[in-house]
Order: sequence, then structure tokens, then C-alpha cells
Amino acid sequence: MTKIYLDNAATTRPDAGCLEKAKIYLGDKFYNPSSMYGEGYDIRREIDKSRENILSCVARAEEFELIFTSCGTEADNQALFCGAKRGNVVTTIGEHPAVYNAALELKQRGVDVRIAPLLKDGTVNVDNLLSLVDEKTSIVSCMHVNNETGALNDIDGISALVKDKNPAALFHSDGVQAFGKIPYRLGKCVDMYTISAHKIGALKGTGALIKRKKISIKPYIYGGGQEKGMRSGTENVFGIKMFEFAALKRYSEISENYKRATDMFELLCSLLDPSFFKIIGERDMERRSPYVLCVSAPGVRGETILHEVSDKGLLIGSGSACSSNEKKRYSRVILAQGVSEAEADGILRISLSPETTSEEIEKCAKILNETVKFRLEMMK
Ligand code: PLP
Repeated sequence: MTKIYLDNAATTRPDAGCLEKAKIYLGDKFYNPSSMYGEGYDIRREIDKSRENILSCVARAEEFELIFTSCGTEADNQALFCGAKRGNVVTTIGEHPAVYNAALELKQRGVDVRIAPLLKDGTVNVDNLLSLVDEKTSIVSCMHVNNETGALNDIDGISALVKDKNPAALFHSDGVQAFGKIPYRLGKCVDMYTISAHKIGALKGTGALIKRKKISIKPYIYGGGQEKGMRSGTENVFGIKMFEFAALKRYSEISENYKRATDMFELLCSLLDPSFFKIIGERDMERRSPYVLCVSAPGVRGETILHEVSDKGLLIGSGSACSSNEKKRYSRVILAQGVSEAEADGILRISLSPETTSEEIEKCAKILNETVKFRLEMMK
């Protein structure tokens, strides 16, 4: 049985055309980009081309540079650990563990870490976040699109307000769930932006930290000095080329994809039975991504439904794939937006890709409606 895959916020199916094009970097073009002979030099130039192309999707090369990393998590860690100085660090309770747990580790090491709460729609409470920023704040990290709920923070507006209060504070945003999906270019107060390849049809194990050229941060990984000394380690050439091809493809059709995803999102919302499904967060696209829908079926466990629908050919998530390893019953992010424990227990995440069809959405809604209805009736 071919399953319907609607867990694209966890990872995406690698794009077949991009894989075909990138195959050469596993074969004939296998050389080490640091090698001194021509073959190595050519690969170095290819990596720089990828850097330029990926960066051009969201920023101007005059202002920003891009450091390839092993994943989005590493880029987030570099931003936090290398951007934080003495003083305090401000972040939000909605962050992915790649930022949140890095911030908790900074706290363990004695840094004053301040965490802003969320509003009911899952976006950060901006007034509260600003009240935490002062002249001693070294970095503020606030994600662009939330991986569990799809809530969209206005990072340009927030970063401008942060800089009004403290022009010296760095502003980082985790853009992993926004890159390649939300039409956006880095605003003038954003200093660092994290992206990851496997969320847009490329491979796991490649990410990048985009940083404003004029800000100076230290490397996170030391060694042979690759990436202009900012991230040592022999480059994952195949992963980087895949990232480039997938990014160029996504950005060549970003507006059409966004519109399609919005239609699919609306269709799904209209088909889920409102007598037992509650949509978590905003419907307004100004404040959310159409690629992630978080719903709750209070009274049934999300995890139970997830397994049952998987047996029926539907693959969805129950929150973030990473936090499922944390073995916590309720998601901190979901609770932080005022959702009750009963609702938090029934959380399901349905995440779309540009390829998602209306037939898939219809089947998904049918399977979910039937499964939850049956469970609730069994419990009567
Ligand atoms: N940040 C967000 C918002 C994510 O959704 C993820 C992955 O789920 C990450 C960071 C981590 O990215 P990676 O899997 O490349 O380490």
C-alpha cells in the first residue's frame, strides 16, 4: 500500500530530479574540495556556487553570507552558543529544542536566559519579549514558523523593536520551517537565520546558518578551517548540491506553492469534523504557515490515533519529530499557548508539501474522521 505522507514538517521525500542531478557528486565528482589539484578546486567552486544560489533565495550577497553546517540543529547551536555573550539571552518558549535546549544549556553555564511566553495563536508575546530585552542582552532568538503549530512570527517587526531597545543585541531566527515555503527575504534587523535541507526536498545532514557579514561570531566547530574558518569539517558536497537544487526549485515556484498549500490547508480544515476536531492556533494566514496544521481531538490520545491511521495508510505527526524523543506527554509549546492538558493529549500534526493533492487531503480527512469517531464511540 502506498501511504499518504503528510508529515512533511518532520522531513520531506528527496526530490527525484534533484537526486538525479546531484548523483554526479557521489560518482565522478567525488573529490575533496580542499584538495590542491584542479579537480578539488572545481568542487570548491561548485560549493561556492551552491552557497551563492541558496543565499540568493532569501538575502543579498552584499549583506549576508552563508555557512554550511551538518543540519539545522547545528546552525541553531552555533547562533546561540557563539552569539551569546556575558549578560543575558532572550528566547521564546515556542522554540524548537535545537534553540530551546541550547538556551537551557547556556543557563546551566551561568548565562541569564530569559524566555518569552506565547499568545493563544502560538506566536510570541511580543510585548513580553521586549520587556525582557535590556542593554545587557547579547542575543534574541525567535523562530520564524513554529514546527508544531505553524504559527508565524513577524520576525522583521520583532527584530526592529528589539534593535530599538538595544541596537547591539544580535537577532537570530530559526527559519527551518519557513525556508522554501513562506515567500520572505531577510529584513534589515535580522542578523542570523537558520535553514535545513531535508525540509525542502533535499537530504538530512545538511543545513546552513545565514549571517549578516558585519556581525562577528566565533566558530562552533574547530578544525581544518573550512567555510572560511567558520565551520570546519570536510564539506558534504552531495548534500550541499542537493540543497542548492532543491532550494532553487522551491523558490522558482514559491508563490504558486504557497497558494496551493493555502488551498489544501483550507480544504483540510473544512473537511475535519468540527464535532470532535479542534484546530489549534490561527486560521489567518498573516499569522500562520499553510504547511502545518495542528489539530486536537480531545478525549483521545494523539499517539493512539497516529498509530491507527498509519495502519490505514496515513502518515502524520503528533507534534515535533524531535520532541517525540523527549518522551514528554504534553508538548511544552502547545501548553504554552493556553491549550488544556486534555486537548494537548489529543494533538496531531498534519504537514503538507507542495506536492500534496486534494485527493490526499480528502482521504486524510476521511481516515481521521472515521478513526476518531470510532475511538470516541468505543469509549462511551
Ligand atoms: N528548527 C526547526 C523549527 C525544525 O523544525 C527542525 C527540525 O525538525 C530543526 C530546527 C532541526 O533541523 P535539523 O533536523 O536539520 O537538525
